[in-house]
Amino acid sequence: MKIKKDIHTNVLQESSTLRQVMERLNAGILGIVFLVDVNQVVKGVLTDGDVRRAILKGASTETIAADYMNQQFVYGKVSASHTENVALLNERVRHVPILDDSGRVVDFLSWAEMIRLPLMEPSLGGNELKYVSDCITTGWISSQGEYVRRFEQQFSDFLGGEHCVAVSNGTSALHLALKAVGVGPGDEVIVPDLTFAATANVVLHCGAKVICADVDPITWTLDPSKIERLITPNTKAIIPVHLYGHPCDMDPILEIGAKNNIYIIEDCAEAQGATYKGRRVGTLGHFGCFSFFSNKVITTGEGGMVSTANQELADKVKVLRDHGMTPGKRYWHDLPGFNYRMTNLQAAVGVAQMERVDKFLSRRIEIGQRYISNLSSIKGLVLPPNVPWAETVYWIFSLLVDERLTGIGRDELAKRLFDVRIENRPFFYPMHVQPPYLQDGDFEVSKRLSIQGLSLPSGNEILNEEIDRVCNAIELIVNGKQ
Ligand SMILES: *Cc1c(COP(=O)(O)O)cnc(C)c1O
Repeated sequence: MKIKKDIHTNVLQESSTLRQVMERLNAGILGIVFLVDVNQVVKGVLTDGDVRRAILKGASTETIAADYMNQQFVYGKVSASHTENVALLNERVRHVPILDDSGRVVDFLSWAEMIRLPLMEPSLGGNELKYVSDCITTGWISSQGEYVRRFEQQFSDFLGGEHCVAVSNGTSALHLALKAVGVGPGDEVIVPDLTFAATANVVLHCGAKVICADVDPITWTLDPSKIERLITPNTKAIIPVHLYGHPCDMDPILEIGAKNNIYIIEDCAEAQGATYKGRRVGTLGHFGCFSFFSNKVITTGEGGMVSTANQELADKVKVLRDHGMTPGKRYWHDLPGFNYRMTNLQAAVGVAQMERVDKFLSRRIEIGQRYISNLSSIKGLVLPPNVPWAETVYWIFSLLVDERLTGIGRDELAKRLFDVRIENRPFFYPMHVQPPYLQDGDFEVSKRLSIQGLSLPSGNEILNEEIDRVCNAIELIVNGKQ
């Protein structure tokens, strides 16, 4: 898909005048022209700044431009690697023409292309500041306050009427859900082998045992066909994780849960807004647990939400969130709880984020689709799942690198992208190999995904040009290897 820059707009004969140079600079986007001889060999370059300086020194528009061109310009070579050419750029050398062996210009690199592209960035340009200021000026900065109530209401509306309880982060949301259904020592909880560790940590913090299950090769999420054989009389809960924005295949999981009296706690931290058979994740199991860390679909800095259709479970979560204090009887505790409350300050940010959540979600779909159309022709890249029964939110655009076809492994591709200041991150390590969760089992798929998986920049604010820059870089790196 490589976007060819129109280099030739910027190529002029060395006999050209400053006026002709200025006309070209005006027409182009590069801010530089190349002066060439009759053989098209580059003799020198002129930038916007060079022209300005020439005029200040008394040159007229009809002066021969070559008198002011820079002959000592830095250039890259087609025969050099992209990384080598990129290394020529810096704050001072902002434009580097790439010349072929005869000295003709064939490509061009700009400093603008070298600016660090973050993996994720929050969008805080709505009413966030206004609402936070409101908390400060009114003094409502702790967990009592109007914004917490409003945020819970907005979230409930978003999910279609669930009870929603705002908490301090996504991990505390999961912990409270497990505690609310009484998970404790002697119990087992099934989690996918490929997830962020918080999913498993909360199980251990309840004193229960983590049982890892392999993931599905298509959806990269908990594989329902791998669960049944892991069920024992001690299995108390299953935590399906809607990984990287894509829903798990929930029906078979819910069926297994119903048949065996097992609670289903959805980890929706990465998938707010995704739907399974038309229903939003977080409304399918006994609980949905959301995270509002700064890189999630919406953010409150740190924050989380527990959703449930069951009033009684919601009430239990509320009590546990607030030290276990019995409602209506201040400072009386029937059980030991936690302080997992969300502050009004966090909720103020959350209310502003929820005002724009639909925009965030539609932009995420656009980002995902642009990546897919740009990258689909590159052999050996497995693009993210999007099955007919689900709608992913492409939380973080992720793909698999099949080294046998690309000729380059995930780690090397990741490093080469970092070289051109494109942030990225590998998939999680499988849970079962890490010390706290060590266990045996058949984890073919999670092991492979963990080695092949790579996530690319996909914040709400990423520009289409930046997506194209990432894809161009990947294409260049992979093609250089094939
Ligand atoms: C982010 C995340 C969490 C934890 O959320 P925090 O708000 O950071 O505590 C849990 N599970 C998954 C899958 C996550 O991505």
